[in-house]
Amino acid sequence: MLVLRTLMVASTAFAVPFGFLSGIRASASAGNYDPHLFAVGMSALFGAACGCIVFLTSRHRMMKAELREANERIEALSDTNWELRESEDRVRSLLDAQGDLIVRRDVDGRITYANDTFCALAGATHETLIGSTFTLPVLEQTDVTLLPDGTRVHDQLIGTPEGPRAIAWREANVRVTDRTGAELQSVGRDVTDRSRAERALADARDQADSANRAKSRFLAMVSHEIRTPLNGILGMADLLLDTPLSPEQQTYGKAVKTSGDTLLSLIGEILDLSKIEAGKLDLDPRPFALGALIEETVELLSPRAHVKGIEIATFVDERLPTHVAGDAARLRQVLLNLAGNAVKFTDVGGVSVIVEPGAAPGEISFVVQDSGIGILPEARERIFAEFEQADSSETRRFGGTGLGLAISKRIVERMGGTIGVESMPGVGSTFSFTVRLAAVTDATPAAFTPPDLRGTAILIVAPNLTESSLIARRLTRWGARACVVPDETIALAVLPERAWDTVIVDHALGREAVQAVLRGCARDTHVAGGHALTFSVPRRIVLLRPGERHELAAMQDAGFTGYLVQPVRAASLAARFAANAAFGRSDADAPAEANIRRDSDNGLDILVAEDNDINALLARALLTKLGHRPTIARTGVEAVESWLAARAADQPYDLVLMDVRMPECDGLEATRRIRSAEAEAGAPHTHIVALTANAFPEDRDAYTAAGMDGFLLKPLDRERLAETLAQASKTPIAA
Ligand code: ADP
Repeated sequence: MLVLRTLMVASTAFAVPFGFLSGIRASASAGNYDPHLFAVGMSALFGAACGCIVFLTSRHRMMKAELREANERIEALSDTNWELRESEDRVRSLLDAQGDLIVRRDVDGRITYANDTFCALAGATHETLIGSTFTLPVLEQTDVTLLPDGTRVHDQLIGTPEGPRAIAWREANVRVTDRTGAELQSVGRDVTDRSRAERALADARDQADSANRAKSRFLAMVSHEIRTPLNGILGMADLLLDTPLSPEQQTYGKAVKTSGDTLLSLIGEILDLSKIEAGKLDLDPRPFALGALIEETVELLSPRAHVKGIEIATFVDERLPTHVAGDAARLRQVLLNLAGNAVKFTDVGGVSVIVEPGAAPGEISFVVQDSGIGILPEARERIFAEFEQADSSETRRFGGTGLGLAISKRIVERMGGTIGVESMPGVGSTFSFTVRLAAVTDATPAAFTPPDLRGTAILIVAPNLTESSLIARRLTRWGARACVVPDETIALAVLPERAWDTVIVDHALGREAVQAVLRGCARDTHVAGGHALTFSVPRRIVLLRPGERHELAAMQDAGFTGYLVQPVRAASLAARFAANAAFGRSDADAPAEANIRRDSDNGLDILVAEDNDINALLARALLTKLGHRPTIARTGVEAVESWLAARAADQPYDLVLMDVRMPECDGLEATRRIRSAEAEAGAPHTHIVALTANAFPEDRDAYTAAGMDGFLLKPLDRERLAETLAQASKTPIAA
């Protein structure tokens, strides 16, 4: 084609000038007609004409092709256009069909697009809205939150003829065209139904909360009302049991006391559960000595365990901080429940309470292990629910309410921990829980200094492994090589094998066996001048139960160099290995030995403000028995008057026991009046102790705020009363 076109152009270019030139020359030599030249000229002109025709033909063909192409393109474009219109219609109908409101505005706030839903809510047509600056009537508006992607989120309450609608808006800037610039696109979702449902839920929750509060209040009132007469029943039963009674009367009296105690603990548990249910389980975290709390809890249960002929022992890992911050009372409640259950469901062997660092930092693991009846696998989950017991027939034998574990689980969970159980029926159960208790790093000295027992060999002879294995574990921690054997035969076999530094013998082996082991510790069996034996084992310790203390003198005579009372405290064990350990008790020994009647020779003048006759009678009887001089006041006003009169007569009371709930003027008000009278007269501080059935943190705070120095829980218990009096007499009291 190109060649043809070139040829054509070249021949035309040649033919035209050539034809003209020939013509000019012909005319110049006029009269000399040259037919050759004419022929050449004509041929050139013909060639030029042909060239033009060829050129025009090819041009025509090219233009036809281009036209066809253009037509095809137009067709394709109109197809695309049609598709675009189709798609736009689809999108528009989709947007219009949306339940959400969609509206776009230009920089001047004029609407450039609004979907049907928006138009319907606005009550206007597209035509009127587009180009206008229409806004929906806003009744309420929340703050605008800016999301990380730049979207602004806020809620509005819009007024409509059908009533207010709640709309949740999401707004973002979108760039449309270079000409129009950015537009604000707002998408609003009608959340009226959802907010209505949420409001209904919130109302229902508020109602439930207030019903729960009312229930808690009601339970607190009822339990207080039940506790008051129960207080009388229990106190009177105590007094009755102290009088000379026939064995039959003793039995009946004890039954009254036991039933009363059970009722009291049931009321306590129900009250606790209702408080927890109402979400009112407030923890009161304060620093406390962890080891002491565990040991005291176990000591509290040990009489019950010893009566059953089983052991209860504790092991608190020395890697744990000595003081931690937490709600000691709630922790004790959980431990008492788990260890109390363990004692209840165990008839042979014993119960160990082991406290160690947990897996995560700051976590403490508590394990209560028993060798009792165990729990069937299918009951293991269930027993943590309210009023659930593993087996009703068993439980009938053991008693209980099925509330303890439910309460314990909630307390542990409230403390951020978990509780669980592993068990083998007939072999025993292991309840464990972990909680986070922050270490308190004050310069509080450790309770005792662990002895360095490296290189010493210690033999423990005990028929029951519960306590002995924990003693061995502790001694091993202190560096000793400890070995536990179950009876005297094995002990006698191993004694000659090694140079033992210490032998610990459990008194439960029986007198004969104990003597046999002692003889085994002797260097030889020669009796030198009567009974003195020469012992090859320098330290010989006997392990006793509190009830066997009367044997102490005999044990010392028999050749023991020291004794330990079960459950053994770590500090007592350490004291036995101190360089100068004597046979007698150390300060670390159990406070169960504390002398309750220590004040009897040193009676106090005590004002008892109590409106209930039976409680007043009980307080009077208990105080008189303890050697004090009580005076009873029936109301708060009477109490204040009595206090003022005593001070005026220069015989002030040493202590005031103030019932919190009294007619006319309650205990708190009476205390406030006494405190202000003291302040006015510059009189010394009188120790005032609240008598109350409620000792929850908020109650305690109220007592302290009124100026009380402590509180005593009703029903009045002789030991607790004596302890409080002992404490009161330690603090400087009015002369
Ligand atoms: P309660 O002991 O008052 O019945 P709990 O909630 O403390 O209530 O215990 C629920 C049940 O779990 C008990 O009745 C008993 O069946 C079972 N259980 C709890 N601790 C033990 C245990 N150490 N050994 C065997 N069974 C146990």
